[in-house]
Amino acid sequence: MADGRPAGRGLETEAQYLKGVGPQGAMILRRLGLETVRDVLWHFPRRFEDRRNLPPIMMAQPGRPATLRGVVVQVESRPLRGGKKLVRVRIEDDTGVADLVWFNQPWLAKRFQHGQEVIAYGMVKEARGRLEVSAPEFELMEDEEDVEDFAKIVPVYPLKEGVGQLLVRRAAAAAAEHFAGQADDPVPESIRGRFQLPSLAWSLRSMHLPAELHDHDRARRRIAFDEFLVLQLELQIRRRMLQKEVGISFPISNLGADDRPPTTLFDSAEPTEGLWPEIHRILPFELTRAQTRVIGEVFADMERPVPMNRLVQGDVGSGKTAVAACAILAAVRCGYQAALMAPTEILAEQHAANLTRLFDPIGIPVVMLSGRLNARQKRRALELAASGEGRLCVGTHALVQEGVVFHRLGLAVIDEQHRFGVLQRATLRSKGLGNPDVLVMTATPIPRTMTMAVHGDLDVSVIDELPPGRRPIKTHWRTPDRRDDVYARVDGLLEEGRQAYIVCPMIAESDKMQAQAAEELYNRLRTTIYTHRRVGLLHGQMKPAEKDAVMDAFRRHDLDILVSTVVIEVGVDVPNATVMIIEDAERFGLAQLHQLRGRVGRGAHQSFCILISEGRSEESQARLKVMVETTDGFRIAEEDLRLRGPGDVAGTRQSGALDFRVADLVRDSVMLEKAREAAGMLLDDDPQLELPQHQALLDMVRSKRTEDSSIAIS
Ligand code: ADP
Ligand code: MG
Repeated sequence: MADGRPAGRGLETEAQYLKGVGPQGAMILRRLGLETVRDVLWHFPRRFEDRRNLPPIMMAQPGRPATLRGVVVQVESRPLRGGKKLVRVRIEDDTGVADLVWFNQPWLAKRFQHGQEVIAYGMVKEARGRLEVSAPEFELMEDEEDVEDFAKIVPVYPLKEGVGQLLVRRAAAAAAEHFAGQADDPVPESIRGRFQLPSLAWSLRSMHLPAELHDHDRARRRIAFDEFLVLQLELQIRRRMLQKEVGISFPISNLGADDRPPTTLFDSAEPTEGLWPEIHRILPFELTRAQTRVIGEVFADMERPVPMNRLVQGDVGSGKTAVAACAILAAVRCGYQAALMAPTEILAEQHAANLTRLFDPIGIPVVMLSGRLNARQKRRALELAASGEGRLCVGTHALVQEGVVFHRLGLAVIDEQHRFGVLQRATLRSKGLGNPDVLVMTATPIPRTMTMAVHGDLDVSVIDELPPGRRPIKTHWRTPDRRDDVYARVDGLLEEGRQAYIVCPMIAESDKMQAQAAEELYNRLRTTIYTHRRVGLLHGQMKPAEKDAVMDAFRRHDLDILVSTVVIEVGVDVPNATVMIIEDAERFGLAQLHQLRGRVGRGAHQSFCILISEGRSEESQARLKVMVETTDGFRIAEEDLRLRGPGDVAGTRQSGALDFRVADLVRDSVMLEKAREAAGMLLDDDPQLELPQHQALLDMVRSKRTEDSSIAIS
């Protein structure tokens, strides 16, 4: 190679051989984890400075960044009050003068000489009638070429203590200039052409040295595409593998028909009427159209001989439990057992209670695997699961996965509520639960883009309709000074026979402090505002039996008001409770507010939610406004994603699957779509990415997989 770099190692060349870096520079770059040229190329700028605005000094506009050039006419260095030191360098051109000023960098004064030509970039201000640029970036000029080098679009890199911007910039420029062209493109020409993607070489160069800012945008989208593509390939490969596995083909359509195949097991439990008639007979309501459609999709999956892997999304209150119940009934009527796993004990118990009410009358035994069972009860429950007599087993994820042996498990329903998780099929299998059909229910609501990114290996059904007769909850935001007014309005509803939730502020410190706060609020309300009402208290520090007693009392309407911490977030269904006050609402995430609010609006009466909050920051005002304006969980989730970024939404933080370098689920959703389509096309041609031209892609998928075990689960 021309400038004496060791040839042949391409992007694996050590960073020290980059022009202007050397062994010293390489040592410093190592602090950023940059060892090779490849590392440097993939260390992308945080932003750019556009220094091309190069006005004559007199024309520079205060309030705008500009590049100024001129001759040094005065250098001043002096201490200021408070021990600071000031350096002021006055420069002049044909039109005027401007001051370059620095604080606490006295050594800079020595670098400037009278008559020296200087070029400097920074925010222009007006101070005492003179133009001033504080702490500008600058260069001492030798010839006109320096202007070109300086007054251009300049990348600004993320740094660490002790690493200078200039070094990184120099290294990156050299890498982009001399090496980017050697980057092998993992994305085949055909895909690039089809989706109008620039080459990787061009993109890497333009990430660092864009000719125009829109070139950088285009390059960034290409890199984002690659990141999405790797994830999509991983998910789709997994999905295709699953489709080759042997699962159970439930003979659902044959149920009730005369020629139905004899099942070896439990034949006495077989109905004769067929599944749909039985469903209509046992459910206390008519299914919505959306529920019926989703149940149909689930049944179709169950009939197919490949294992079902379906995600049912439905907003709070959309009736996911009924869908799960139908799938469970189908599995049981076909001669199999079913398991339902919930994220919390409260929720597991609520499911067990609801499903027992439904299934008991038709002779289907429901077994609850609760952490609260004593040793004898637990042994009995395990026996029922192992013998097959327990047709449906309900418990928490942990309980069902630990140590339960089933006789013939056909269906696992996983209720994740809004907790985000990646389907744990392999976990099921490794726990000896066989290869059952899996149905995941989530109320997340996960934004559609995120669903695609994270659950790309699942089939998705959406219950996009609420049961009839529901009136949208009316939500209001009130500042704390109007609390008394709010209390009075709530009292009016209590007078009409309704019930209320009052949710305490979220205190991050500890459960204990949370409980204390709830207790204080409870005592205050009980002894001042609501002396004439029956007030109950619920928090996470109470014993399970105490919690049950309080919940039962509220359910029976022996309490008018339930003061509570967020423990009511899941698993409470009291249709007569029609109003909820949420204290200090801005402390809650949007998804969480939506879940909380979903506890009201479950009956025929008009329901209300009152968010009490100062709305201190603009962001919290924006979030409160979203809550007031919409009850659509998907819109809320999308706003949440937009306002807070994917890391915080729906607890996805633990999922490394969404740690992208440049890709942004909101901004780059178009690229995500493209990547999904591209992954499908690639795998249609080459299902295992075995062709030599796909080797680089396969390597990327593999390294993603080892980097991030959470997406390699199933
Ligand atoms: P989700 O789990 O989706 O939040 P649930 O399954 O708990 O919702 O259902 C919410 C409430 O709506 C429950 O009280 C349930 O009995 C009721 N429900 C479900 N489906 C219907 C329907 N089709 N018609 C009327 N009520 C329904
Ligand atoms: Mg539910």
